[in-house]
Amino acid sequence: MPEVQYIHPDYFQVDELLSDEHILIRDSVRDWVNRRVKPIINEACQKHEFPLHLTKELGEIGAFGPYIPEKYGGAGLDQISYGLIMQELERGDSAIRSAASVQSSLVMYPIYKYGSEEQRRKYLPLLASGEKIGAFGLTEPNHGSDPGSMQTKFEDKGDHYLLNGAKMWITNSPIADVCVVWAKDEDKIVRGLLLEKGMQGFTAPETLNKWSLRASVTGELVFDNVKVPKENILPGVKGLKGPLSCLNSARYGIAWGVIGAACDCYDTALRYSLERKQFSRPIASFQLTQKKLSEMITEISKAQLLAWRLGTLRNNDKATAAQISMAKRNNVEIALKIARDSRQILGAMGITGDFPMMRHMMNLESVITYEGTHDIHLLITGMDITGINAFA
Ligand SMILES: Cc1cc2nc3c(=O)[nH]c(=O)nc-3n(C[C@H](O)[C@H](O)[C@H](O)COP(=O)(O)OP(=O)(O)OC[C@H]3O[C@@H](n4cnc5c(N)ncnc54)[C@H](O)[C@@H]3O)c2cc1C
Repeated sequence: MPEVQYIHPDYFQVDELLSDEHILIRDSVRDWVNRRVKPIINEACQKHEFPLHLTKELGEIGAFGPYIPEKYGGAGLDQISYGLIMQELERGDSAIRSAASVQSSLVMYPIYKYGSEEQRRKYLPLLASGEKIGAFGLTEPNHGSDPGSMQTKFEDKGDHYLLNGAKMWITNSPIADVCVVWAKDEDKIVRGLLLEKGMQGFTAPETLNKWSLRASVTGELVFDNVKVPKENILPGVKGLKGPLSCLNSARYGIAWGVIGAACDCYDTALRYSLERKQFSRPIASFQLTQKKLSEMITEISKAQLLAWRLGTLRNNDKATAAQISMAKRNNVEIALKIARDSRQILGAMGITGDFPMMRHMMNLESVITYEGTHDIHLLITGMDITGINAFA
């Protein structure tokens, strides 16, 4: 495997906005991605396999629960550090970032924020170390953008809850040891339940045949009269704000993560365009190639500044859900366009697995849909500025 030649684009000297600790964290994750992800990721995607052997290493580098306090096994870092870790992981592949996002923001975060002290101590250290894998079940076969209409429900049977229903498109579901499942109680109030692998009536079949996020495992969660112990309910939250607060955290991570995919594509295309000659000249000398590259670095620079500013707002608990929606939507859109344009710069070579563009491009088609679709995020901005909800 050739040495990774990546040079991180920093046109607006955003590095100067980072602390020494941020740079140390980012560089160590960058180095890990170069050594452990880059050499295997193309084959993992071709085989449609999640590189399970990396989960404990992800725990070791602090990618699981970066901002969860150290007493629960997390790294106790700030939001900029979390973002930088996501950026580096997604430069490797969106599947690796997705695994870290789900574990951190969709499983550890709700247990930390809404769980009992007993639940925190039982689950968080094992999730932080990667010994246990988590999944987050919100989406259902008939309810994606509209999770408030979910049909999965549970009844109080005295000494336990009885859970019935199904979730779909769940990252990690077939390999998860613990799942945060959102379901309605008898009063139709959304609650979070902790399901463990092996509970009777609980199955998690894999969803096969994906053209996107092929190095991530996706599946269903099916509940057929599952007896859930009463101590497995998250006591600290009622209603849709529970899952939505988790999604805010994950969407924030995506806003950073996709910058990594965009930078990987830009850096590859820039290097290739300087080496590849047509008509006896480097293709970088043609105006149309320069237009593509110039637009890419412009959009990357804007995305970097947006993500950094959002991180500082989140560090001070001031970021709104609408700001997070805007950043997620913008940064995924520019990353997808950069993947497409950079692929064109490589011509036919761009469609092969020797270069990362097609893989990033296909991954980003999921990223633009999950954690709230591109259009729903636009309508969230619309609602925020007009005060009128156009989607529900
Ligand atoms: C690879 C992958 C992994 C995923 N992982 C998870 C996970 O771990 N956990 C989880 O719970 N979910 C997960 N999801 C599900 C994801 O969050 C949903 O796919 C997403 O919320 C959209 O739901 P949907 O696919 O049902 O689309 P729909 O809601 O059916 O939307 C279809 C189209 O209609 C549009 N639309 C819908 N409503 C409106 C409206 N009111 N106004 C305008 N347009 C509208 C949408 O924008 C979209 O373009 C994952 C999805 C994928 C692809």
